[in-house]
Amino acid sequence: MTPELKAAVAFLMELPKPFACGLRHARRFAPKLLTAMAFLGWEEPDEYLAMELVAKSADGLADPPAAIGVRIEDLRPRHIVVRDRAKPAPQTPPQAPCPTHPGLEAAGCPQCAAADAMDRQRRELDAAKGIDDESARKALEAMLANRGPQSRAARGREHAARQGAQAREEASKRDAYLRELEALSG
Ligand SMILES: [Zn+2]
Repeated sequence: MTPELKAAVAFLMELPKPFACGLRHARRFAPKLLTAMAFLGWEEPDEYLAMELVAKSADGLADPPAAIGVRIEDLRPRHIVVRDRAKPAPQTPPQAPCPTHPGLEAAGCPQCAAADAMDRQRRELDAAKGIDDESARKALEAMLANRGPQSRAARGREHAARQGAQAREEASKRDAYLRELEALSG
């Protein structure tokens, strides 16, 4: 087996689920894949090739890995695939933008959700250390009132307290905004 054939077999077996081929399909499709690649400007199996082969959903396929054989036959030239992938998805401005992340919808804003999750995690860590929001706030106030040379740990706590306060403020802004929207539509 040539190194190229071996790489193609490995590539087919490592496709994302549910398209990952078993050895039987991978061995059957690998020579066909190499031929198509040589014709279509694919020097090696890369992430674009993987994306292209699994781009169409597996809905309705009884045996998704078997469909890879057909998709190899329909493979497009690499430069076309790369060109199409590089196009930004058409963007529609959000109807009800998040007050903190104006490019995103307020309802289910993923950035707010991420900030919430970070804050929750921080609070859990703090709770494990016996620090609640109130004591974190007091510690922050005390630190601000008493500026002086700070230890690294103190700076870390201050940073965490600031981040937490900011995340909570953003979350409450968004909640208020969503309540307003609800009131308007209801
Ligand atoms: Zn947001």
